[in-house]
Amino acid sequence: MDFPTSCPACRREVRVEFDDSAVHEVTCPACGARFVVFVRKHKFEVLFDLGTRALLDGYAREAVASFAAALERFFEFYVRAYALERAADSEGDFEAALAGLEGTWRHVASQSERQLGMLALAYLLREGRAPDFLAPQALGADFRNRVIHRGYLPRREEVEAYAARVFALMDRLLTELGEGAAHAELAQEQTFAARLAALPDGVTAVFEEHPGMFRARRFGTVRPEKTLAASSTDLPADGRTLNDAQTFARALAERGPGLDVFRRGLRSAPTPPQP
Ligand SMILES: [Zn+2]
Repeated sequence: MDFPTSCPACRREVRVEFDDSAVHEVTCPACGARFVVFVRKHKFEVLFDLGTRALLDGYAREAVASFAAALERFFEFYVRAYALERAADSEGDFEAALAGLEGTWRHVASQSERQLGMLALAYLLREGRAPDFLAPQALGADFRNRVIHRGYLPRREEVEAYAARVFALMDRLLTELGEGAAHAELAQEQTFAARLAALPDGVTAVFEEHPGMFRARRFGTVRPEKTLAASSTDLPADGRTLNDAQTFARALAERGPGLDVFRRGLRSAPTPPQP
């Protein structure tokens, strides 16, 4: 997947392949200027947007793998946010907490079942109740396995239902996390700061935020009451609660068009990249 950016020296549009680290070293093909693009976006967001784009483009089967990966990476995001939040609440050292977290995650990184165990405990400790969403049927695990491991060709509406379930769950947990998510964001900012400090002379740093399905709010930086108000799961005027499909459909209608910037280039961007 690539994204369009603008060369800080000559302002021409340059397409950059998205890097797993969210940090991109670029040499402008037109003027030769060197710059580094830092994209403020988490892995789960990138994966979910990738799934959404695949779905909109008619690649329903491919979309399932991205949505499933997005959910797994979101669970990691939740665990990280909680662990760092807890360290901050007990006035622990952020660097030490981060190092402890990395050392712990290493033991679970290659097995998603272990990660689910981490999430279950994190949720219990943070919210004081059992994670009701972890039942395999609630996660759509059976559908995901049929598609990914057994070659099942899903219909588009089946994939939409799966995407809606994944989206609604992530949306709900982000709402519950509220400001807690800011701690995971801070960890990304620190990684960026370390890369920034090591930039050679003559290389420009560019920070960007991209449109996306979860971009309507910078989840960690808004107050909890605003998070609730801005959530797509808030009550419609007639007092009914939106179901998963309605929540996803609404987000898709509001934010789906923004994803087109990745295909069509910067001129279609609804929000320009931030300096
Ligand atoms: Zn240039």
